[in-house]
Amino acid sequence: MLTTGECNLECKYCGGSFPNSCVPREVTFDIKNLRRLVEGDPDGSIAFYGGEPLVNAEAVKEIMDCVHAKRFIIQTNGTLAQRLSGKYWSRMDSILLSIDGREEVTDWYRGKGIYAKALGAAETFRRQGFRGDLIARMAVSEKTDIYEDAMHLLKLGIFDHVHWQLDVGWSDSWVDFDGWCSDSYKPGILKLVQEWRLALSAGVVLGIVPILGILKRAREGGDCPPCGSGSTSFAILPDGQVRACPIAYDAAWAICGDLRGEVPLKPCAIEGECLECEYLKVCGGRCLYMNKERLWGIEGFSKICELTKFTIDAFRSLEPDVFDALRRGVVDSELVDYPKYNNSTEIVP
Ligand code: SF4
Ligand code: SF4
Repeated sequence: MLTTGECNLECKYCGGSFPNSCVPREVTFDIKNLRRLVEGDPDGSIAFYGGEPLVNAEAVKEIMDCVHAKRFIIQTNGTLAQRLSGKYWSRMDSILLSIDGREEVTDWYRGKGIYAKALGAAETFRRQGFRGDLIARMAVSEKTDIYEDAMHLLKLGIFDHVHWQLDVGWSDSWVDFDGWCSDSYKPGILKLVQEWRLALSAGVVLGIVPILGILKRAREGGDCPPCGSGSTSFAILPDGQVRACPIAYDAAWAICGDLRGEVPLKPCAIEGECLECEYLKVCGGRCLYMNKERLWGIEGFSKICELTKFTIDAFRSLEPDVFDALRRGVVDSELVDYPKYNNSTEIVP
C-alpha cells in the first residue's frame, strides 16, 4: 500500500517523490475496499510503502485501525518515526529500515545525518514496543563495499537481518559498473560466504537475507519473481489503482485492477528468456520490472543475469555446510528457514 507518492528525502539513486500526477499524495479510495481485498485472503498482509509512507502517517494509522490484516510490514527511511506511537509500532511484524551500510556510504547517497537518524529510528521502534523482525534495507551502488557495508550493519547488533537491492537496471549513475562487479562486488560476495560459513560452524546463523532466501528457494522454490509482484503481491496506489509493482506506477503492463471498482485482479507474469533459464527456480526472474522494461538494454540485462548467477552459485556453495550443521545439531533448522512469509524483501539482490 503506497500511502503517498511523496518522500521527504532525495536519495541520489532514486531522486525522491513520484510525480504527483501518477502517485497522488493522499489516499482517496474507500478503505472498505482494501479491507474486503485483504480480509478475503487468509494470508492477507499489508506492507506500507511510498514515497515515504510516514509522510502520510494518518493513512497508516487509519488502515491499521480498520483492516484486520494477518501481518503489517513497513518500508521506511525512519526519519519520521515519531509520527506513529507505540500502539502502531508494536503491531508491526517487520520493519525494513533504509540504511546503506557505513555512515559515509549512507550519508553520501541519502543525505548528511541520515545514518544517525536511521539508527535513532531503530531505537525508537524497540522503545515503542516493536518486537518483530528489524531489517536493514540497503540500496547497493558504486560506493558500496558489500562485505564491509553488510558486515558493518550486522555487527551493530541492532538489526535482525540485513538485505540489499542492487541499484541496477534503471540507474544511469554508474561510472564503471563492470569494474565494480569484478573488483568489488564479486570478491565481497565471496568474503560474505566465507564469513557466513565460519559463523555457521560456530552455531551462529548470520541474518543475511539474500543468503538465507536463496538457500530457501533452492530447497523449496517460490514465487516468480521472488517479491511476488503481479502474482501474490500487488501495489495499491493512493488513488486505488492496483499495480503489479510499486515502481511501475506508469507502465501499462503493470495495471492489475482498481480498488474503486469490482474488477478482479489480473496477474502479470515473468516472460522471455527467464522461462528457459536453468536458474529460474532460485532466481525467479529476479525482478518483474526489469524483466519487462529492460532499461539497460539486452546487454545490460545479460550483465545483471551474469551477476545474479554468480551470486546464486556463491550462496548455494553453502548448502553442504547447512546440511552438515543441521545433521550435527549445531544450528536450529528454524533459523535457516527464512523468510517465513513475504516480508517485501526481494530475496535475489
Ligand atoms: S538469471 Fe536472468 S535469465 Fe535467468 S531467471 Fe534470472 S533474470 Fe531470468
Ligand atoms: S523486485 Fe522488481 S518487480 Fe519486485 S517490487 Fe522490486 S522493482 Fe518491483
